[in-house]
Amino acid sequence: MIPSPSSTRSFNQVSIDSSALQANFWMLQQKVGKDIRIMAMVKADAYGHGMIETARIFAGAGCDSFGVAEIEEGITLRCAGIQGQIFVLLGFQVSQEQLFFDYDLTPVIFDYQAIELLSQAAVRNGKEITVHLKVDCGMGRLGINPSELPDFLAHLERFPGISLAGIMSHFPMADDPTSRQTLEMFQKYKQVCGQATHRSLILCHIANSGGVLYYPETCCDMVRLGISLYGYYPDGTKGKQHDSAEKLVPAMSFTTQVIQVKSVPAGTGISYGHTFITGQETRIAVLPVGYADGFLRTLSNKAQVLIKGQRARIIGRVCMNLCMADISGIEGVKAGDQVVILGSQGAETVTADEIAAWMGTISYEVLCLFGNNNERNSI
Ligand SMILES: *Cc1c(COP(=O)(O)O)cnc(C)c1O
Repeated sequence: MIPSPSSTRSFNQVSIDSSALQANFWMLQQKVGKDIRIMAMVKADAYGHGMIETARIFAGAGCDSFGVAEIEEGITLRCAGIQGQIFVLLGFQVSQEQLFFDYDLTPVIFDYQAIELLSQAAVRNGKEITVHLKVDCGMGRLGINPSELPDFLAHLERFPGISLAGIMSHFPMADDPTSRQTLEMFQKYKQVCGQATHRSLILCHIANSGGVLYYPETCCDMVRLGISLYGYYPDGTKGKQHDSAEKLVPAMSFTTQVIQVKSVPAGTGISYGHTFITGQETRIAVLPVGYADGFLRTLSNKAQVLIKGQRARIIGRVCMNLCMADISGIEGVKAGDQVVILGSQGAETVTADEIAAWMGTISYEVLCLFGNNNERNSI
């Protein structure tokens, strides 16, 4: 057997700035006030920032609640030593109910079967379980309809060992600071909560990042924050319209390196399909990054990267593991030079919002793509 080397490093590196994550958490906690809990959404590997590392950083900053999609992720967090309450948002499969007890996880429920399975497991374990209920107040996605609430609550009361500790809902348009629909939906949600709050202490939570930043009156008892903790505004702005005390700091950067520099004459076709033909002699930098690394093919002839602190255009198609940048206007570029795809170099910055605009998507997707397809390190 050939021994594996002690360390190998890809050309492409995602770096996570832990002090940015911490600063965002503190800023947002201050904004909502210390009596309102923040559930840090660390699903999708913390939007590409690394679930365990990110949860540790938020925990260190004072976070005591975490949200994941599937039970598997909750177990991973527990096994990594994360304390506090871990919410599993997408339910569970039959026979997984025992895991909520084994790993002290809190299920979000939205159907009758979950009540029965969790109750049976609670009786078996001689341990009560608390659950949060998801109500669909206008998202058109997961959750019971508000009209089903009385029946659902009655059903819940019939089963031993299971108690309702929270009612949650989710906004479809809170990323739009001017949506009237958000406040109308909030009124509906408050009515729903009002039907259940006479039964002991029920935690109400509906606000995501958009809710907290643009509709602060919707914060209730707890808020569920994702994109803002990672440093971006949900409406894709740089937060220009917000006061400086509210500045979020992007935590992720993504870099690669130049692997070859060359000059090609006017009339040269660049990359598959020759979708770019040079109009004059052109110096190009070949970069070892492509759609397999989350630098999607839709960025062909659109994206810009930073080399020596200056912007360089991506020309021609993005390939699986390669793409080309036009460096004609940039002096002294050589193989090995660092290239910033996302983040800052010198005085220039490329944001996930800018890349998202080139791709026709949102920052969330850019962060997931880069973060979940590359080597990642914390700084
Ligand atoms: C992902 C998610 C959030 C966080 O949304 P952001 O816009 O990233 O703040 C909140 N609630 C639920 C149910 C989610 O799935």
